[in-house]
Amino acid sequence: MSLQTPNGEPLTLIIDFDSTFTRVEALDELARIALAEHPDQQAIVARIQALTDRGMAGELPVDKSLRQRLQLLQAHRHHLQPLIELLHRQVTASVQRNRDFFRTHHKDIYIVSNGFAEFIAPVVAPYGLAASHVLANRFTFDEKGSITGLDTTLPLSRAGGKAQAVSELGLAAEKWVIGDGYTDYQIKEAGQARQFIAFTENIARPKVLAVADWQAHNFDEIIEKIKK
Ligand SMILES: [Mg+2]
Repeated sequence: MSLQTPNGEPLTLIIDFDSTFTRVEALDELARIALAEHPDQQAIVARIQALTDRGMAGELPVDKSLRQRLQLLQAHRHHLQPLIELLHRQVTASVQRNRDFFRTHHKDIYIVSNGFAEFIAPVVAPYGLAASHVLANRFTFDEKGSITGLDTTLPLSRAGGKAQAVSELGLAAEKWVIGDGYTDYQIKEAGQARQFIAFTENIARPKVLAVADWQAHNFDEIIEKIKK
């Protein structure tokens, strides 16, 4: 069954991951895991969170924000499995209770994130979303398995990357972007989506609400609009 707008047009949903599909910012959680034994854990996690917030508010370009956070993380491949297990438990409540909606409409739903496919794909898989419907960054590792940075050949590693990634899908359907961050709005700003829906179940950012077509307090409200 295909998704449709209230006007009966084919519809694709473009959904953000951090603080939208899940309640948390995954890199902040990865920092807590990776730095668990580090004497300065709290101070470093706080610096990473500050970079996350500045990126999400549109105050710092995403490529700079990502690079600076990865440098602070000091993470290793073996930290990813505990992160994935944590993220499974932190899927947003209204996503969890609408799992059937995701499984039914998986062909018309994409996750577009400046986060990393290594942890996003396994977390969205139980919701019927294939790895090919996850547009995200990829880590680079050294020979010992330490995370050294990100694959800079991918569009999502750069400012404006979300819009470029959506553009490259070449979808004819009307697109609605659902997210909590300014980079989500930029997909619509670049002309790659009809509507930007500010998703505020987990966090409401004034700068993002100011540019939204409408605000969704949870996924039930979005599903309600689609089915009308
Ligand atoms: Mg987000």
